[in-house]
Amino acid sequence: MSTSNPFFIVNANVVTPQGIIENGCVRIENGTIVFVGTQAEVPVADLAAWQHEALDAQGGWIIPGFIDVHVHGGYGADFMDSNKEVLDTITKFHLNQGTTTIMATTMTQSHDAIERVLAEVYEYKNNSMPYAQVHGVHMEGPFINPKYKGAQNPEFMVEARVDWLEDWNTKYPGVIKQISLAAERNGAIEAIRWARSHGINVAAAHTDATYEEMMTAVEAGLNQAVHTYNAMTPLTHRAPGTVGAALSEDRIVAELIADCIHVHPAAMKVLVKCKTNNNLVVITDAMSAAGLGDGDYDLGGLAVVAKNGEARLKDGGSLAGSLLTMIVAFQNIIHRVGVSIEEAVQLTSYNAAKQLGIDDRTGSIRAGLQADLLLLDTDLNIQSIWVKGNKA
Ligand SMILES: [Zn+2]
Repeated sequence: MSTSNPFFIVNANVVTPQGIIENGCVRIENGTIVFVGTQAEVPVADLAAWQHEALDAQGGWIIPGFIDVHVHGGYGADFMDSNKEVLDTITKFHLNQGTTTIMATTMTQSHDAIERVLAEVYEYKNNSMPYAQVHGVHMEGPFINPKYKGAQNPEFMVEARVDWLEDWNTKYPGVIKQISLAAERNGAIEAIRWARSHGINVAAAHTDATYEEMMTAVEAGLNQAVHTYNAMTPLTHRAPGTVGAALSEDRIVAELIADCIHVHPAAMKVLVKCKTNNNLVVITDAMSAAGLGDGDYDLGGLAVVAKNGEARLKDGGSLAGSLLTMIVAFQNIIHRVGVSIEEAVQLTSYNAAKQLGIDDRTGSIRAGLQADLLLLDTDLNIQSIWVKGNKA
């Protein structure tokens, strides 16, 4: 990556929290956005100098870099095998698909296997990260329910253990950012209270919870739902289940795998209509085969076959993560669900930043924030990517 130089993007449709600025400009200095506005609003004293470093967006879109809170790997690498090389491979691959902030998501595995990932990510975060910025670890399991195992290994599913969490958070402070658990399991409510008092988000995942059990969990602090609709009790009219809680409760931020395979576009549209209060977050749930061709892969120790854009367990055929990237997810929600570009930016960037409490640093285009930016052409394909002002 090149060093961070001042630059000035002109002739862009800039998607900001206040709306789209047509024929807009963005000025970046020292990795930070210092100006967003129309050409006419550029300070006269700066105009000549800035224009010297101008980059013509040719009427394309400037949007914030994507934030993916749920992703297991990519380009042949899996976060469960974390070391510097694996973390570089995954963050480089997803950066090139527009993701500038990423959560290293673990699979349900042994205590020690999960701890190794925490240790590696802790170490990685303490150095300057060259590609997508790893915000922390999203632990998907092991405190989940075998009844809704999906592609998680039931052998390692256990009741919620606050003692493990306490120990991990002491050894690797600040690394765990999200815990995804089944709210109905023993110890879950205590774990939710512990997590939220330590600034960690808690999501319902791989869960047999009834609507009532979900609401008890929400009262305890549960504030998210993992890949909504997938691997959770469905909505029926007399038993609203986990899906009913996720759709109806504003305190739950709902994740959505927007590959149009895990969830039908019409069900995606229902979710978009229900989650209007900045509480819908598009994720990839990508596994290692994302970015590679068809073939045999491994997901947290289980054999997976990738074929025709789908990843399925060899044994049983359950969907096993996705082959999705954030730019394709962004295009899907616009083209197949019908959300506007402004709304799509919220779903792929701003809402996640807000949920993670980093919206004062990234997740939108405004002066003072990190220059995590994408330039898309008028067909919504990526032309350029910057993370902290460095071009990828
Ligand atoms: Zn997952």
